[in-house]
Parts: sequence; C-alpha cells; structure tokens
Amino acid sequence: MTDPIDDRDEAAAALERVFRAAGPYLDGLPDRPVRDAKAEDLLLGHLGGPLPETGDGTLASVEELLRIATEAATGTSGPRFFHLVVGGATPAAMAGDWITSLVDQAAGLHVASPLAARAETTVLAWLKDLFGIPASYGGVLTPSATLAHVTGLACARTWWAGQHGVDVAADGLSGLPAMPVLTSGLVHPSTRKALQILGCGRDTLRTFSRDDTGRLDLRALADALAVLDGAPAVVVGNLGDVYSGDSDPLDALADLVERHNAWLHVDGAFGLFAALSPRTAHFARGVERAHSVTADGHKWLNVPYESGFSFVRDREFLARAFGGWGVSYLPEADGAEVDYNTLGPESSRRARALPIWATLRAYGRDGYRAMVERHLDAAAHLGRLLDASDDFELLAPVRLSIVCFRYRPPGVPDDRLDDFNTRLGEAVLRDGRFFVGTAAYRGAKVLRCALVNWRTTDADVEALLPVLREVGRQLAE
Ligand SMILES: *Cc1c(COP(=O)(O)O)cnc(C)c1O
Repeated sequence: MTDPIDDRDEAAAALERVFRAAGPYLDGLPDRPVRDAKAEDLLLGHLGGPLPETGDGTLASVEELLRIATEAATGTSGPRFFHLVVGGATPAAMAGDWITSLVDQAAGLHVASPLAARAETTVLAWLKDLFGIPASYGGVLTPSATLAHVTGLACARTWWAGQHGVDVAADGLSGLPAMPVLTSGLVHPSTRKALQILGCGRDTLRTFSRDDTGRLDLRALADALAVLDGAPAVVVGNLGDVYSGDSDPLDALADLVERHNAWLHVDGAFGLFAALSPRTAHFARGVERAHSVTADGHKWLNVPYESGFSFVRDREFLARAFGGWGVSYLPEADGAEVDYNTLGPESSRRARALPIWATLRAYGRDGYRAMVERHLDAAAHLGRLLDASDDFELLAPVRLSIVCFRYRPPGVPDDRLDDFNTRLGEAVLRDGRFFVGTAAYRGAKVLRCALVNWRTTDADVEALLPVLREVGRQLAE
C-alpha cells in the first residue's frame, strides 16, 4: 500500500477541489447570510470526535473540511460584515496568500528564504511610502496590531530602561520604577495587552481625556509630563478610535515628546490609512515624527489574517529588543540580507510579505486611495441617511469609515434605549444578513459600523437601515 501522504493523485485532486470551490464561495459572499446558524448547527459537530487512528486520506479529509468551511464560515470577508474592524482579502492578496502556503517559506532567517526576506524589505519600504513614514525607519511584519504594539512598545521599553542605565533585554525590569505611559481615552485595549505582556503592567497606563468621548486633554498630559521633570516616559497617540474614528493630535504630541524626554508610539491599526486620502490625511499628520508606529494589514489593507506592521524610527531598537540569538547584529540600512526574526517577537514565521506584495503590486497607491475613499464615501452616506431619519440617532461625527449610532424608534422610552439597542444588536447577529456590533460609547449602548472591506459599496450601507428597522419591529412586538 502506498503511503497516503504520498498519494500524488489525491493531492492534486484535493487542491483542484479547493480551487474549484473558491470562485462560487467568493462570488456568493455578497448574497449569503454573514452568519448561518443552521449551517453551523448542522456542520460544526463534524469538526469534533476522537483523533482518527487511521486517516481518511488527503482527498476525503480536504473535501470534508472544504464542505464544512464553505458552508459554516462567518462571512467576515464579505461586504456586509461591519462588526469589529475586519477587512476582506483582495483577489491579489488572496492569491498571494495561497502562494505563501504553496512555497511555505521559513521567513525568519535570510539564509532560509532570501525570497521572503527581500519581499519583506520591499513591502516595508512600499508601506512606509504609502503612509508617508520616512524611508529611514526600521520595520518588521507582525501577525497583528497587538503584536506590532508589543514590538513598538518593547523598543520604547528598551529606550526607557536605557535612560535609566539598564539593558532591559539582558537584565530585565527588576530594580526599575514603573514605566510611565500616558495617552488619551481613545486608547485601544490592545495597547494595555501589550504593556501587560511586556511586564510593564496594563494598569500603569494613564489616560487624559477632556470628556466622555475620550478626546485627549493635551494640557493635562503636558502637565503630567512636566511633573516627571525629564524622567523618561512613553506617550501613546491614537490614530483612529474604533468607536468614533476620532484621533489624537499627533503633531501636538510629537511636539510634546520633543520637549520632554519621551517616546511617541502611535496606534494606527486602521487609522493610518487616513494618510492615503487628502480628505483625511490631516488625521495622520505627525505620524512621521513618531518613534514607533503600529498598523494592521488584515484590516484596511485587505490582506488575509494574520498581518500587522511595526515601524520604528531608530531601527537599532528593534535589533536590541529582539536580537536574542547571541548575534550582535544591526540590520543593514539598505535592507540586504535581513534576518527578520531578530527584529520582531516571532522566531519561525510565515512569509506574510507575499500577499502584501501581490496586492500593492496589483492595485498600487491609486487603487488603495480609491478604496479608502469609497469607504469614506459609504460611511458619510450612511451618516447622512441616519441623520435624515426620524428613528435613528447618529452619535459621533463620521470622520473615517466608522459610524456610531443607535436606534430610537417611536414608543421606546429613553430609559429603555440601552436595553433595546443591546437586544437589537444581538438580534441582528442572529438574523445574519448584516453584522453590526454593539458597544458602550459615552455611557450609551450603541450600534457601530466599520466599513473597511473592499467589496462594500453604497448599496450595502443603504440596505442596512431597512434590515435594522425590520429586526427592530419584531423586537418591539
Ligand atoms: C484592531 C485594532 C487593534 C488590534 O489589532 P489586532 O490586529 O486585532 O491585534 C489595535 N488598535 C486599534 C485601533 C484597532 O482597531
């Protein structure tokens, strides 16, 4: 009997099946429910069971997984998934991702894959160019924005400990005071998570807000820096709040950190893409002065999970924070022969540069600017529809592609609106035609849409309100 792993006919047939299923799956995304509870009930059970003693063989296994996955997957990559901040995958990015699996590179060390290393160097340069970040910045691809925070804030921590005369990579944090980290109320929980991972403590973060929107109280933050009296500190600037699309004034923060002895880290997970359109570029102004910058690829770049980037002004900090391999190593400024696993938290890693390369090569700056502007338009359009209606209430100005609102149908008293919108949010997810999440914003339960999927059009946002009304009516009955 031949080894089932080595059955070439089955291997070819399995890949063929995946290829043939791809077109119908992708074409069906706009019309199928975002989430199909019936398909889940029917199929997810098939993922359980004991470890097979004897396998089913390549083709049977792949066919089974393909059937379950294409029917029971959440349509996160479709045009009507407005929950969280979730992009899709452009055609070129998806094909690039398939190629990544096909060639299965060990993308940590240059010697193991000059291909992956060169692609990473190239896409980092392209991304810096796209966002207006100086070419001299160092960078590394990460699995997510959270890990990009870990990367940037580890560099900040290395700098900060160095100011105290400590090599934190070698000797750790013991004996050091708590690292002061200051930000606005727009800060995303992933920043706290990164501080938690780094041993800096998530609750050491201090927020300075003018009001319950979370907007920065610049004077209060400046006063807190002044009190530190030159002791090193880290300031986090938030570019694109997930509830309102609001941002901190990065230029003002960059001025502040220059005057005080501080490091500016910017969270631009999706907001960094504001730099692509002249209509929103002012939000990102100042990011080119930050010491470290975080962004996601799997959001507004529309490449598959897992894709994030970290840019660091002084590339030496990346090597000092992550070069734990007994190599005293500084990356070459020209990007030749870089071992990217000495510049970020991962050791072994996939060649996640390839889908980024494919999509940037395919659509270029113009294509991405057009996509971002389409989303800005769609969000503004939704904002106008909400404003013009009697039964919806827009709760934050539409700045980027985030729309924050609630349903306020006649007959529901004010003190029941939170409960009503909570139940509406749950019912919408159950309904499955759209995915819109609920959130707590300024003390109210709100519905919130993030429009960052390349497939999303004005027609999708126009179809949203009638569905919310229909689902809401059923709740009221
Ligand atoms: C999504 C998001 C993050 C975290 O990104 P992950 O890729 O999920 O780790 C951080 N900050 C902001 C503003 C985000 O929108």
